[in-house]
Amino acid sequence: MGEFDLIARYFQRPARRAALGVGDDCALLQAASGAQLAISTDMLLEGRHFLSTVDPFKLGHKALAVNLSDLAACGAKPLAFTLALALPRADDAWLAPFSQGLLALADAHDCELIGGDTTQGPLNICITVFGEVPVQNGHSLALLRSGAKAGDELYVSGTLGDARLALEVFRGTLSVPAPMFEAARRRMEMPTPRIALGLALRGIATATIDISDGLLGDLDHILRLSGVGAMVEADLAATLVAARALCATPDLPSGGAITLDQWRAWALAGGDDYELLFTAPPAARDLVAIAASTSQTAVTRIGRIEQQSGLRLIDSEGRDLPSRYSSFDHFA
Ligand code: ADP
Ligand code: MG
Repeated sequence: MGEFDLIARYFQRPARRAALGVGDDCALLQAASGAQLAISTDMLLEGRHFLSTVDPFKLGHKALAVNLSDLAACGAKPLAFTLALALPRADDAWLAPFSQGLLALADAHDCELIGGDTTQGPLNICITVFGEVPVQNGHSLALLRSGAKAGDELYVSGTLGDARLALEVFRGTLSVPAPMFEAARRRMEMPTPRIALGLALRGIATATIDISDGLLGDLDHILRLSGVGAMVEADLAATLVAARALCATPDLPSGGAITLDQWRAWALAGGDDYELLFTAPPAARDLVAIAASTSQTAVTRIGRIEQQSGLRLIDSEGRDLPSRYSSFDHFA
């Protein structure tokens, strides 16, 4: 199978929204008049972002999911994406499930594959997504990292830390009961981009980011760009590790129980969560609850924005905790 057969077989489908899709030198995309395009790119490298043993269907899903997560954080409606793919070889057994996982998520969000590039080389998947944000009375409705104000409340969607727990099991540094591993592994391999929540938060959230490197590190981006500090309830965050609910039995195969400090660390700095972290004023509590219910996404209030810069962690009794949970940094 040559390069063009490969593209035609797995990635070329009739154009729907695009004026011109795969096959020419450029794709042509009509944005709604007056709207802004939201554009974001994410690259996934074997060994760095995924394990070489991962199921290609799940990899296809995740490659697009992490990109859609950026659109969600911006409050953008997905329109289209491009796919730049380096592959060691043209292998049907890999390409068929990869493209199925990718295009199933694309169809679920009505996000069209409009072009890309294909080359031979070490496995590398680079996706650029295009979304749309309305402009009202000259004012963009995009959600940004920069609008948090002292007194705003801090919220997080969904669950935290499960992807990291699964990664530790894959690395062999932890061993847990099978049902717990399976639940955590689903969160690691098939993250859910919070598109519906991002759309519902337009005009409500004052600052938003998606959590890819760990809650505290990503919160720090909001704090720096907004010029504020925050208080986070660490023990509340620690209850958001979904696998924790499956951990009724204290004896793990690895011996001993997982400590509260460990749950806190996974929740606060685990990474690969792809949940939305956002702020909103206390007066908007009801609107946040409505956004959560209309988007069918669980949302938990886990802290508050403060005037004083820096981050404070407190435990369930309100006592200060040392904040020594650091996030993922590719070059640290
Ligand atoms: P060019 O050489 O002009 O850049 P290519 O020959 O690389 O174009 O690609 C041919 C067509 O196939 C283009 O429309 C390109 O966008 C599309 N394409 C290439 N690779 C992919 C891919 N992995 N997924 C989707 N479309 C692709
Ligand atoms: Mg090309």
